[in-house]
Amino acid sequence: MTEILPKDTKTLKAAVDAINASDRLLLTCHVKPDGDALGSLLGLGLALKDAGKDVTFFIEDPAPDTLQFLPGAQYLVNEVANPLPEKTTLVVLDCNEPHRIGKQAQRLIEQASLIVILDHHLSQIPFCADPKTKHPHCISYIFPDIFAAGAIVLWVIKGLGWPITEDIATNLYAAILSDTGCFRHSNTNETAFRMAGDLVAHGANPYAVANKLYQNYSLCRQHLLGLVLRTIEVKRQGKIGLLQATPEMFRISGATEHDTDDFVGCVRCIDTVEVAIFIKEVYAGQVSVSLRSKSFFNVAKLAKEFGGGGHFHAAGFRKTGTAAEIREILLNKINACFKDSETADA
Ligand code: AMP
Ligand code: MN
Ligand code: MN
Repeated sequence: MTEILPKDTKTLKAAVDAINASDRLLLTCHVKPDGDALGSLLGLGLALKDAGKDVTFFIEDPAPDTLQFLPGAQYLVNEVANPLPEKTTLVVLDCNEPHRIGKQAQRLIEQASLIVILDHHLSQIPFCADPKTKHPHCISYIFPDIFAAGAIVLWVIKGLGWPITEDIATNLYAAILSDTGCFRHSNTNETAFRMAGDLVAHGANPYAVANKLYQNYSLCRQHLLGLVLRTIEVKRQGKIGLLQATPEMFRISGATEHDTDDFVGCVRCIDTVEVAIFIKEVYAGQVSVSLRSKSFFNVAKLAKEFGGGGHFHAAGFRKTGTAAEIREILLNKINACFKDSETADA
């Protein structure tokens, strides 16, 4: 058996103890939350609530419609008291960069008495080491080898010895399903299947969760996809695949910016493609980019050059500028990386 057990169990235990000792907790995750961010937040939040803690479930952006089914979504708020009540522990899930929490990040960090970070992203500047966000009491449990923040939450709840209810299991199962791309991504391993099995044993319904996440799109979304698919391009003998969405396409289709989940997968799946790019311009001059790769290309490193981040095979960033400008800079950088790797191979 090759189950991945948590590394650095000392830090994990410190996080568990800190959460256990806190009576008031404010949970948050990254902006534009996905299934892992929300599933982790709600799963941990419900466990804390069941244990009688005072919990606030805070996200800056509203949950997308496709994630409203997650148990506990009714507790989500997008405003929190200023200043925070005394002795509030801030728990940050599925992100470790303050700007990804949103506009309130700085003051939440300053006002929290303790910070616990539970994440699996490669970190740019460790939160607690960054002079801007340095906090005297910060426990940072960042485990980039693990497929989902939801897995870390499961370790935490198990560490606390608390029951895994059906609602908690559903949230954590949705988190794992989302971040493993339905058990297709390179991060999928035996632990992912074991944990998912464990969560199903605790009441998560795989068919129901998969239907809510992937068989629940609006007609507008499919119309948008139709328009976007017409923009497919490949470069560098098919190794780079590109897709683009313009403000006009959003207007024509009536779709929203939340409706583009996994559009990038429509170019990543082309046989020759190593790097897939989806450039989304919802409002003119505001661009967000999704990057994916299949094997050797580190898209997290590339995204960092644009102020974003992510994982080796899945990353993203947002930038102001025109889609054409950003596309040009990106292609140049990717071409240069390919050249480097080809020289290294020679
Ligand atoms: P997406 O393409 O939006 O599905 O994101 C893919 C991965 O990159 C996810 O793990 C995100 O958390 C991460 N990511 C996306 N955008 C950013 C960003 N602006 N900064 C840091 N990480 C990001
Ligand atoms: Mn996420
Ligand atoms: Mn995640």
